[in-house]
Amino acid sequence: MKTEFSLTQLADPDIAEADKILRACVHCGFCTATCPTYVLLGDELDSPRGRIYLIKEMLEKDKPPTAEVVKHIDRCLSCLACMTTCPSGVHYMHLVDQARVRIERDFSRPIAERALRAILAFVLPRPKLFRASMIMARLAGPFAGLLPAPKAAATPGLMRRIKAMLALAPKGLPAPGPSGGSVFAATGARRGRVALLQGCAQQVLAPRINQAAINLLTRHGIEVVLVKDEQCCGALTHHLGQDGDALARARANINVWKKEAEQGGLDAILITASGCGTVIKDYGFMLREDRDFASPAAQISALAKDITEFLGGMELAPTTQKGDVTIAYHSACSLQHGQKITGLPKELLSKNGFVVKDVPESHLCCGSAGTYNILQPDIASRLRDRKIANLATVKPDMIAAGNIGCMVQIAGGTSVPVVHTIELLDWATGGPKPGSIGQD
Ligand code: SF4
Ligand code: SF4
Repeated sequence: MKTEFSLTQLADPDIAEADKILRACVHCGFCTATCPTYVLLGDELDSPRGRIYLIKEMLEKDKPPTAEVVKHIDRCLSCLACMTTCPSGVHYMHLVDQARVRIERDFSRPIAERALRAILAFVLPRPKLFRASMIMARLAGPFAGLLPAPKAAATPGLMRRIKAMLALAPKGLPAPGPSGGSVFAATGARRGRVALLQGCAQQVLAPRINQAAINLLTRHGIEVVLVKDEQCCGALTHHLGQDGDALARARANINVWKKEAEQGGLDAILITASGCGTVIKDYGFMLREDRDFASPAAQISALAKDITEFLGGMELAPTTQKGDVTIAYHSACSLQHGQKITGLPKELLSKNGFVVKDVPESHLCCGSAGTYNILQPDIASRLRDRKIANLATVKPDMIAAGNIGCMVQIAGGTSVPVVHTIELLDWATGGPKPGSIGQD
């Protein structure tokens, strides 16, 4: 694609990067076939190719984005299916990230929307506040029907979004898991030492996921540390275009993880929520222009691993007789498109005694996508229903996924237990049988 940035614009490293990405696009449109919003809405402007044009215009003209541009960028899930499909290697993720920052900076959203985004950005990364908000949402849930009916509109209004938020609140909340600073010693001879990302929403909604990881790892000779003063990875605010907050969190995490690696040694930083993993693996890029953090950020990104990547290099010993349990494996977009981890989780489950079934349209997003199911509830619920119909075709006993956002989204529409891959692997190697998300 031909671009027309001025030399002054190209002196900005972000614009130079956008120029490189845009020039790689050859307009072929292959990406449209796998883009969930194009598949649902059939509008070229809701396809990757259409959005790439809109972003090009916005950046070249260097003017505040129009409401129309914002509408189509907001509808993008950042699922990255387009990156998997693109034959030219267009790095759509870095382009749309930049567009979101630009929109956040230059576009004036309606006041109610600004307030909602500010609340989400403030509450979600703070587990104590998030826990309190979930309790309040649960209490308010029965009154959701009293809210005025949402008006039909191209962009959902505040009432529709509040209803979506209330619908996501779980029926009960489990007791909090172990806090930062905890160290779990390896059973027997120590074969390694890792940090385990505590996560923010996940530690409130399902601390049993990291507990399963701790159980399995320590049982196999790996010491696990929950690093003190670790923060939210920044993914939530990064995807809302609030890069000041996201980068501050990245820098804070780099500092505490670097200190831990220097003092106690770390073979890896393990992540059980793939949405977080994709962003931590991108810290090196996000901070590439920061003289003080570019190098440590790249080192931290290199240490970051999805839990299944780490387990792929270990020999696990199945010990539990489970009978034939059929698993429908839901491939989270951040894992399959963001981190290119596709076959490994399924191989691990099969090797450890589960019957793993491939699911039709597994490349399509479930509609969770961070805060997307709150901000774009109509598209998100259509994608969820489609995902659940596809999962149901393999008649699973359980649905497995590697990302808490997908687990909550899918569990909201099915009675089949939705569990994390690590819970199944823990069960297979001596841990407890997992229940479903939201049933705690
Ligand atoms: S990230 Fe997903 S929703 Fe966005 S353009 Fe790419 S395929 Fe479509
Ligand atoms: S598949 Fe790649 S090169 Fe083709 S239109 Fe989409 S982004 Fe551009």
